[in-house]
Amino acid sequence: MTEIIDGKEFAREIREEVRREVELLKEQTGSVPGLAVVMVGENPASEVYVRMKEKACQNAGIASFQHRLSIETGEEELLDLIGNLNQDPGVSGILIQLPLPDRIDEGKILCAVSPAKDVDGFHPANVGRLMLGEETFLPCTPLGILELLHRSGHPPRGKHVVVVGRSNIVGKPIAMMLVQKKEEANATVTICHTGTPDLAALTRQADILIVSAGRPGTITAGMVKEGVVVIDVGVNEVGRNPEGKRILVGDVDFPGVREKAGAITPVPGGVGPMTIAMLLKNTLRAYKLQIGLTPSVSTKNFPEEKF
Ligand code: NAP
Repeated sequence: MTEIIDGKEFAREIREEVRREVELLKEQTGSVPGLAVVMVGENPASEVYVRMKEKACQNAGIASFQHRLSIETGEEELLDLIGNLNQDPGVSGILIQLPLPDRIDEGKILCAVSPAKDVDGFHPANVGRLMLGEETFLPCTPLGILELLHRSGHPPRGKHVVVVGRSNIVGKPIAMMLVQKKEEANATVTICHTGTPDLAALTRQADILIVSAGRPGTITAGMVKEGVVVIDVGVNEVGRNPEGKRILVGDVDFPGVREKAGAITPVPGGVGPMTIAMLLKNTLRAYKLQIGLTPSVSTKNFPEEKF
């Protein structure tokens, strides 16, 4: 029987862990972590994500500050706001909801966020630290994937992990996290992209296959080996049901691949819920660092064994 990795349940577990820790810290310090979310313009998809993040914060006892700016907002105004949030002691983490309007330089804005409040892990200083294997804020989706692998009993250590996709928010960081000489990682990693001549020849070698391509049907049953663990990051809208609700599928042909896989994440209900849970975890970590408490060790659920 193929194991369906229930990201919703693991995410619920993590949100509850965060909620309990926030409650405890509130009793000890009289304060709570705070997350500022900045959104420019009216993108319906971003609006949905922002509302989900707001609700998740509320449920975890984390203060949430929403900054919904008009599409007309200029770069200077946005930089001023970020400067104020960087200084605000009530704001532990800052999240810039992407995409920003085209005329705003995304790189410049992400660089303006203090690395100490960069709970999305997108600041170049934090990206560099990840590369060097130093403690840092890890981006939420890759961090969620790593947690999912460990919590579901599929640690990547010693495994051949094939990553399909090299985006800055998923493909590259998850590959970099998995290749580190650390007990929770230490995998052999292959990264594939559209320049890879024979994708199937590589995906068939995967013990763990992570797919973040943004195209439905990128991986079919013939492209995987028996018993593979499949993490499907893709979220693709393929139509609407009679009630008008979006029909979402991943990048993996789920019905075909599940017949061969040892374990597989569904879409929806796999990686997606983990991303928000990790945002809460990173916000709590930022808060603890800022008030001088030892941050909870990110490997606490990982095997004790050392090198
Ligand atoms: P992206 O920026 O859309 O880039 C896609 C990557 O996949 C590129 O590196 C591309 O190669 C590669 N690719 C596309 N088709 C391929 C193919 N047929 N063979 C090999 N490589 C292929 O990626 P992303 O931002 O990582 O997003 C990917 C998907 O994940 C989207 O559906 C997105 O909505 C979803 N996502 C979900 C979450 C979540 O929380 N669940 C979070 C982030 C993203 P090139 O570089 O050569 O173009």
